[in-house]
Amino acid sequence: MKVSSEVSRRSFLRLAGVAATMPILTEAHFAWGTQQAAAHGATGGRRVRPVLPEDAVLINANENPLGPCKAACEAIAAIAPKGGRYDIDGETAKLTKTFAAQNGLKEEYVAVYAGSSEPLHYSVLAFTSPSRGFVTADPSYEAGMVAAAASQARISKVALRPDHAHDVKAMVAADPKAGLIYICNPNNPTGTLTPKEDIVWALEHKPAGSILLVDEAYIHLADAAHVLDLVAADKDLIVLRTFSKVYGMAGIRCGLALGRPDLLAKLQPYGMNAMPITGSAAANVSLLDAELVPKRKKIIADTRNATFVFLNEKGYKFIPSQSNCFMIDTGREGKGVIAAMQAKNVYIGRTWPIWPNFVRVSVGTPAEMEKFTTAFAEVMSAPPTVARRADPFEGVPYPLVS
Ligand code: PLP
Repeated sequence: MKVSSEVSRRSFLRLAGVAATMPILTEAHFAWGTQQAAAHGATGGRRVRPVLPEDAVLINANENPLGPCKAACEAIAAIAPKGGRYDIDGETAKLTKTFAAQNGLKEEYVAVYAGSSEPLHYSVLAFTSPSRGFVTADPSYEAGMVAAAASQARISKVALRPDHAHDVKAMVAADPKAGLIYICNPNNPTGTLTPKEDIVWALEHKPAGSILLVDEAYIHLADAAHVLDLVAADKDLIVLRTFSKVYGMAGIRCGLALGRPDLLAKLQPYGMNAMPITGSAAANVSLLDAELVPKRKKIIADTRNATFVFLNEKGYKFIPSQSNCFMIDTGREGKGVIAAMQAKNVYIGRTWPIWPNFVRVSVGTPAEMEKFTTAFAEVMSAPPTVARRADPFEGVPYPLVS
């Protein structure tokens, strides 16, 4: 189609109700962008995982080293021969039915995606615009900001409270024209919680016409109340769930958006890719394994808390977390610590601009955390190193405003 010179392709697409261009960024993109920047300088958009030594310790992307459960692996193997067809046995419908029944939702309130990154980006695109802003906590998971920048929305970053909960009062007040307020509970990167009553308060006081996007990627790992009952009650919110964390399926891909059908319908113009049947089948049987969540929650908590014992003993400052990641205050430039750890074959997570001295560490296996503690003690007892560059947004083709 020919577009007149006054109407750029971007504004034409916007008029057509479609975002111009936008990458769907996952934790892996942010994590590996940081590692490559630390090692090589500017990433230039190279955000795929490089080939690494076999014994590399990967605690940079909040993955789950336990992987998919046995039943999920078996379901994947069993369904693979049917992969020549799109979804001949209705795997995605089965998953929808299971999740809805387990959570007191009608099936039309459940939308299945290949990971929660897609509905996260699409929700932001659907509900923000140059005249409807995006509000997020700071530090928090960055993907929504990337989508908001693509949407040319005003981005308001609101510092966490001193107790590291979202400051919902300040978030609601941040932008009277907000289109979407993003609440990540437990928060990535801090693993800290926002009380449910605060989320309810935000729902009751948010700007007219806006929605809450409550990202519950890590909810199973924490003693936190979820908000699916508010979805069932037809409130103005979308809740995100993923199978990438407690269920260990980051590479298999499956995530959910839960919300009123009219809200979920607004996401559809931005993308409706078919689900891989492996992802749906594995997610469905994972939900049916009643032992999985409590067992894995305990394994991850035990490993995390053992690392906290080490940090306490050595006098390193950290933020107590209920999730599979936590932040350490290194007291020096965090990017230098990331680079020095990388030189020891231990890949830890990134920094956030608001806290340049804090690094995020994901919880790996006990053996991985032992390698982490040894390397970290060595790095911290050596003089600080200066990273070349480790900016997670470097290479992202959208200017991010604060
Ligand atoms: N939301 C949060 C807070 C995350 O940390 C992540 C990944 O780490 C995601 C969403 C997206 O995960 P996925 O696309 O693998 O479901």
